[in-house]
Amino acid sequence: MIRLILSIFTLALCALSAANSGVSPEIAVVVQADETFSPQAWQAMEAESKRIARQAGLRVRFVERAAASAQEFTDLVVFRMKGRCEMDTTPALLDERGPFAWAFTANGNVLPFGEVKCDRVRESIKTAFRPADYRKADALFGRALGRVVAHELYHMLANTTKHGKTGVARHAFSAQQLVAEKLDFGKHERGLLAGRPDFSR
Ligand SMILES: [Zn+2]
Repeated sequence: MIRLILSIFTLALCALSAANSGVSPEIAVVVQADETFSPQAWQAMEAESKRIARQAGLRVRFVERAAASAQEFTDLVVFRMKGRCEMDTTPALLDERGPFAWAFTANGNVLPFGEVKCDRVRESIKTAFRPADYRKADALFGRALGRVVAHELYHMLANTTKHGKTGVARHAFSAQQLVAEKLDFGKHERGLLAGRPDFSR
């Protein structure tokens, strides 16, 4: 497992140093799930991340780790999804604490490598669920995951550990913000991402 992660991380670094002359190149988000991943949640996660990224002029495409080795990428980030990325109907575990996700850093730089704690996100959004929400539970779970991934993408692509005052780049999300109808990038963060230096430099 560790070797797999290391090999894909090396691939990510190689991809980042490759020449890149296109305008708004597609960024591949390679996802390695440790446990179950609901297809519905995956679909909603990808749709939400894409929607948010588009606000900053970014195009992202999600790729499963298993399918990634057969493809070539110009820009690449990697997320490991820990825990069970599937909704259940058991009561929320209220002792779940800690961050929803993080991006790795080295020598002051944010690396294109992050982790998401599916269990933590799942238990949090249950506290904001109304009974009717359980009918679309995996879609809402995916929406929440998409926002968490977009937040870490912001850190990676802007190469900053700082947070925005509002929206997706805020330092923390409430359970309600994770599943609310909309959560967008703030104006400042959109500008920062849209004007970021070429990923390859
Ligand atoms: Zn953050």
